[in-house]
Amino acid sequence: MTRLAQKTGSSAAQAGGPRARRLACALAAIVWALAPARAQEAGTLAPKPLPPLARPDDPKTAAKELFARRALPARMAARSIGFYSRGCLAGGRSLAVDGESWQVMRLSRNRNWGHPTLIAAVERIARQAKAEGVWPGLLVGDLSQPRGGPMLTGHASHQIGLDADVWLTPMPARRLTLAEREDMSAVDMVRADKRDVEASLFTPGHLDLLRIAAQQPDVERVLVNAAIKKALCRNARGDRSWLAKVRPYWGHNYHFHLRIACPAGDPACRAQDPPPQGEGCDASLDWWFTEEALNPKPDPAWKPKPPLTLAQLPAECRMVLKAD
Ligand SMILES: [Zn+2]
Repeated sequence: MTRLAQKTGSSAAQAGGPRARRLACALAAIVWALAPARAQEAGTLAPKPLPPLARPDDPKTAAKELFARRALPARMAARSIGFYSRGCLAGGRSLAVDGESWQVMRLSRNRNWGHPTLIAAVERIARQAKAEGVWPGLLVGDLSQPRGGPMLTGHASHQIGLDADVWLTPMPARRLTLAEREDMSAVDMVRADKRDVEASLFTPGHLDLLRIAAQQPDVERVLVNAAIKKALCRNARGDRSWLAKVRPYWGHNYHFHLRIACPAGDPACRAQDPPPQGEGCDASLDWWFTEEALNPKPDPAWKPKPPLTLAQLPAECRMVLKAD
């Protein structure tokens, strides 16, 4: 999910109430405009270390500035603390940059960290999709920072180590160089008019990969562009119950977003409402292809929210940030 989605109240917008939709669509043009740019955004082989903050303990300091400066996880038991778009991660684990069925992209961002349940889910999806012969391997985008928390660029969620972005581009049959991992771009799956997928690009393998992702018991949501959801609704055969977890959202035309449910026995993790019942292939999907959803008018009164401060995150995030 994008940073801008947060400004619309991401969970409400996904639930799809009319008011939430109005709020959401006010910004959607910007979301849409940013989504391709984000997917194409290259990394760098020589990331510059962030300069020290003049007043890190100033209560007005943006939490993203603090969390971005922690290059390693907090050595604590693994816990997701808070909500997907307002929290942090203790005891983060890294996804190996190379697996037999995945490769991590944009290594310079140091965002291949997550709760162990997320790491296990990404690995399982990668292995299963390869074993079933539907997808050669995952190219993995951002998970979380080592201690989670808000990020300097890109995402509103991904804060508690339970979200992952996976490219809709299959992994090549070779190990990518470090430069390729920074420069390579994913492929846009959606037609220029935004009303459907690009037929020459969206394959049965894409459907099967999304099915395998959504069928994992600990995966609660898979976010895709509405045009991709439409293609899944049209083409899925057999058991279609997994479609309920695949939710339409702006952007997500180069990658899909995987969201894991709060792990069992993690009381500080605040759950999101479960997705609505049913396949979501009905009138609720049609709305995404109306003019107000496809080409919304920006709201001239809209102003960016000030960034979250540490005091606005769960109190335990202060400990996570300061821990060794
Ligand atoms: Zn995401």
